Amino acid sequence: MQKIDNYNFAGKKAIVRVDFNVPLDENGKITDDTRIRGALPTLKKILEDGGSLIIMSHMGKPKGKVNPKFSLAQIKDDVAKALGHDVKFAPDCANAEEAAANLKPGEVLLLENLRFYPEEEGKPVGIDKEDPGYEAAKKEMKERQKEFAKKLASYADVYVNDAFGTAHRKHASTAVIADYFSADNKMLGYLMEKEVQAVDNILKDIKRPFTAIMGGSKVSTKIGIIENLMDKVDNLILCGGMTYTFAKAQGGKIGNSIVEDDKLDLALDIIKKAKEKGVNLILGTDCVAADSFSNDAKTMVCPSNDIPDGWEGLDAGPVTRKAFADAIRPSKTILWNGPAGVFEFDNFTAGSRAIAEAIVEATDNGAFSLVGGGDSVACVNKFGLADQVSYVSTGGGALLEAIEGKILPGVAAVQGK
Ligand code: AMP
Repeated sequence: MQKIDNYNFAGKKAIVRVDFNVPLDENGKITDDTRIRGALPTLKKILEDGGSLIIMSHMGKPKGKVNPKFSLAQIKDDVAKALGHDVKFAPDCANAEEAAANLKPGEVLLLENLRFYPEEEGKPVGIDKEDPGYEAAKKEMKERQKEFAKKLASYADVYVNDAFGTAHRKHASTAVIADYFSADNKMLGYLMEKEVQAVDNILKDIKRPFTAIMGGSKVSTKIGIIENLMDKVDNLILCGGMTYTFAKAQGGKIGNSIVEDDKLDLALDIIKKAKEKGVNLILGTDCVAADSFSNDAKTMVCPSNDIPDGWEGLDAGPVTRKAFADAIRPSKTILWNGPAGVFEFDNFTAGSRAIAEAIVEATDNGAFSLVGGGDSVACVNKFGLADQVSYVSTGGGALLEAIEGKILPGVAAVQGK
């Protein structure tokens, strides 16, 4: 397996898949450049070695059509600034052979949004799964995807995948392209290596106690990972909106709180499984309830299973916050995904803050802590604690799938698995 650190890019053209799917404001200005900064170590190593760089990425969901709203031309200057280097732009990623051929060592070419072509995702367009011709259309699109990947591969001597955010997708630029490079000439970038290592720390190299904190709005989107973690963790904290599905499932009164009525049995099943497996399942017992879904709502602290009508639980209460922090502090491995309340409202951040602060304390005492998934990352950023945890993952879906134990196509493709 080739490693980026061992590779000398001098005189080589490297095509690098990055995740520059950065958020833009209505004027096309970047509002958060974390993803660009995340790719810099890989991009700089290639340039410093004396290689030339072809950068490719997707942005947004243009659904296989050219759409200026999602043009990477908007971020070209920011990429140049971050790299400290001129960047040329290829306005059509599938017809960039001339620009790529003319690239001299030390030069950088940014390709236009890969998803302007349906071949990137490889899903047939304009046909429903139920339609009779769907299977044939799918097969045809897979062939077109291979051609598209082959074209991208033809621009370069070496392929680097540094886009963890899309590593769970088998797309032309994230996986299929790797087939057109020899094992020596394809590899993970530094960011991907770090992400894969962080997941390994959580799944393979577990120092105990291991505490997982799963929050967010729904049980349904987290069930895969909850089930997988049940075999590994000592403490499982389930918080945020899913608290009320558990409370209702056990006969509690939850007022207007968020609930998934079709997941009540699932909640009971999780409680049962945790008991069987000896996992210490920690659910909220008290909450900060509000009389409307707004930052300025009237609030009161009440039991999570006895919330008056007209009120809804929007954050963890003080007893719950202490129980969460007490479990987290002595832990040696910690995974946090999903907030403990509606942290976007400043008045409902206490639960998430208590978790973040306990994680920082545990990390200080030698724990390995991984924070991942968009909203928990937003939390640690909001609290200014991002640099005090062991690792903040850039991947949402990819991180969850990796922790569920699934092999990521973007990783498997370059590792020849
Ligand atoms: P998810 O996308 O499932 O990780 O959920 C993240 C969202 O869950 C955030 O936008 C939070 O505001 C929301 N959330 C957390 N706790 C609650 C709650 N008690 N009621 C409603 N939404 C919540």
